Amino acid sequence: MLQSNIWWLRGPDRDVVIDAGLGIVPLRQEIPQMFERDPQLIITHTHLDHVGGAYEFDDVAVHEAEANALINPGPVSLDTRTLYGILGIDVPDGEADSMLQKVPHPDYDPGRYEISRAIPQRLLRDGDVIDTLGTPLEVIGTPGHSPGSICIYHPERNWLFTGDTIYKGQLLDTITGADQDDYRHTMKRLRDLEAASIFAGHGPELSLQALKDIAIDYLARPQPGNGHGW
Ligand SMILES: [Zn+2]
Ligand SMILES: [Zn+2]
Repeated sequence: MLQSNIWWLRGPDRDVVIDAGLGIVPLRQEIPQMFERDPQLIITHTHLDHVGGAYEFDDVAVHEAEANALINPGPVSLDTRTLYGILGIDVPDGEADSMLQKVPHPDYDPGRYEISRAIPQRLLRDGDVIDTLGTPLEVIGTPGHSPGSICIYHPERNWLFTGDTIYKGQLLDTITGADQDDYRHTMKRLRDLEAASIFAGHGPELSLQALKDIAIDYLARPQPGNGHGW
């Protein structure tokens, strides 16, 4: 569940990195090349598996609704029961006690895991354009999974980065901070988007059809309240 993607985009002068992983190992040590060209980090949202390495970047952009969560990280844990408790959902049957399958080195103590504070240099809103790559990146506000979830669209390449809003697997819309009504609005918007390649916060690249199917499936779910799909 915490195995998340870090997307590294090369520009002519500077790079953009989308999401920063869980923060189990220092990125500057493991992937020093990623820091050679003054990278701007764009955070799709502030869950632990996306912001763990954010403190290592000098230039961080996040949606304004989650700026405070970046500056003052909330409680986190790699202990399965504790983490699910923080997220406000039940632990699925058969889940291991630890969220980690491996530790980076023998002395690593998962009990001391925490998120280090990062200071956002730019606060984002729906419709903002980021020029760091020399070609525009568009910010799409996609609340639902979390209040400040965003997708990033790269018009020149026709790429869409979706964070945890859309990925292959069970979407989390009942965790603390999630909002199903917002998620439905977001899914309607994403259903109508056209992008050639979709790069999610977890799992493999998705086709446009896969993205549309996920959105359509979500919208077809019975809705508490009126009993209609949408
Ligand atoms: Zn998330
Ligand atoms: Zn995630």
